[in-house]
Amino acid sequence: MKHEEDIAAPAPAIKPRLVPLIEISESQCRYPVLPASSAPGKFLFCGLPVARGHTFCPYHHALCWHAKHVAHPGGPVPIHRRMGR
Ligand SMILES: [Zn+2]
Repeated sequence: MKHEEDIAAPAPAIKPRLVPLIEISESQCRYPVLPASSAPGKFLFCGLPVARGHTFCPYHHALCWHAKHVAHPGGPVPIHRRMGR
């Protein structure tokens, strides 16, 4: 439906480092990229460098702000929806 199309974003032009939550630092993007049941926190995170005071890298920052207007006012959209192919 239209709803789904709005959530689907273009393929990322970035290469997430897939960092577990416990290893991520304040200067790394904390966007959950990949579900990982064996990892602490159950997700692997983007881990790309962020600007001081930011939570997400520019790509994920834009993704979250876009998603806010769609269906998830409280946080990032679950990315696993797009990981199936
Ligand atoms: Zn990121």
